[in-house]
Amino acid sequence: MHTCDVVIAGAGIIGLSVAIELRRAGATVAVLDRGEPGREASSAAAGMLVVDDPETDPKLKPLTRLSASIYPAFVEELELRSGIKVELENRGTLYIGRSDEDLSSHPLSTTELQSLEPGLADLPRVCFLQEQTVNPLLLLQAALVAAKRMGVVVHHEALVERVSVAATCDLEVRTSAGPYAAATFVNCAGAWAADIKGVAVPSHPVKGQMLTVIPADSNLRHVVRSREVYLLPRRTGRILIGASVQQAGFDKTVEPDVIQQLHQAASNLVPSLGEAKMIEAWAGLRPGSPDGLPIIGPGSLPGTYVATGHFRNGILLAPITAAVISELIQGRQSRIDLLPFSPSRFVGNRALAG
Ligand SMILES: Cc1cc2nc3c(=O)[nH]c(=O)nc-3n(C[C@H](O)[C@H](O)[C@H](O)COP(=O)(O)OP(=O)(O)OC[C@H]3O[C@@H](n4cnc5c(N)ncnc54)[C@H](O)[C@@H]3O)c2cc1C
Repeated sequence: MHTCDVVIAGAGIIGLSVAIELRRAGATVAVLDRGEPGREASSAAAGMLVVDDPETDPKLKPLTRLSASIYPAFVEELELRSGIKVELENRGTLYIGRSDEDLSSHPLSTTELQSLEPGLADLPRVCFLQEQTVNPLLLLQAALVAAKRMGVVVHHEALVERVSVAATCDLEVRTSAGPYAAATFVNCAGAWAADIKGVAVPSHPVKGQMLTVIPADSNLRHVVRSREVYLLPRRTGRILIGASVQQAGFDKTVEPDVIQQLHQAASNLVPSLGEAKMIEAWAGLRPGSPDGLPIIGPGSLPGTYVATGHFRNGILLAPITAAVISELIQGRQSRIDLLPFSPSRFVGNRALAG
């Protein structure tokens, strides 16, 4: 039997961030992943840190704002501990609204738009948003290296099956790699969090497909986003175009017609992208929840916690999720009202029965 203070299921950005925060507070921590760490939703993401999108639920905004404000410190620590730069940038976003109500700041004039982003089509209702971006692949690498250097034990190919209270009052965590005993367990299993018996919550997969193109001459400086599509330039000159939002179970097939629609929607905004060569396309499974809000808080068994359901915002919300889970585990007052995100709001849901 392996023993440690905390066992975490899931080595995506949420599980790794929680592990780092708890290790920093002095706990011994093991993170178990059913596959390779960081290979699911977290490495499929674009890396926008979206704070004030009109589609963001108002209940989520205190969390998104707080997380964006602590992001630079979060990244600085990961970069220092890992030696890996994660490309946190203040590019800013040009947001294209469907109506005036969509815009959270004044609409830009044609002249302003032309000087900010010359390649953009002449569009009405565009505003500038002060938003950051990060490269999720580098962020994941940095988090994994930082966690290991701090002494977090990361187990690959260790599927967490069930959590129960043992006779010793510790938790017994049954896994495909043998049993673990721990005082605390955190379910960070993303879209699969409903499968862990004893600490199940009703998360579900929401498929997202995206592509990268390499344009011959586009010099995109900002993120460009509408309700239908977004474009995110990388330092390499590549442009990410995303993303579909589909209820397709655990299917991760890349569908050429969906990719084609995204490419077309992108070239409606930046016409030169119509000719851009596609480099790659992929699909990932976002962790959704029944009401679209994250699931963060104590689980149904004593000593258990849940941090999942981050849907389209898990890269953004990693630092604040890690901070509040650490506060809860240490019995401290959370810096933010977690009631809207409490796992107990789903009590009675069959997925919780374990
Ligand atoms: C196309 C796309 C674009 C996105 N763009 C953005 C963006 O721009 N900005 C943003 O903030 N967010 C974005 N997201 C959302 C973001 O990627 C997710 O919210 C976030 O990655 C969720 O992280 P996670 O650690 O909870 O899940 P995951 O990264 O999926 O990690 C969960 C881990 O748990 C493991 N696991 C599952 N079951 C078990 C088990 N029983 N035992 C052990 N391990 C288990 C899995 O193998 C996996 O590694 C995007 C997502 C997609 C798909």
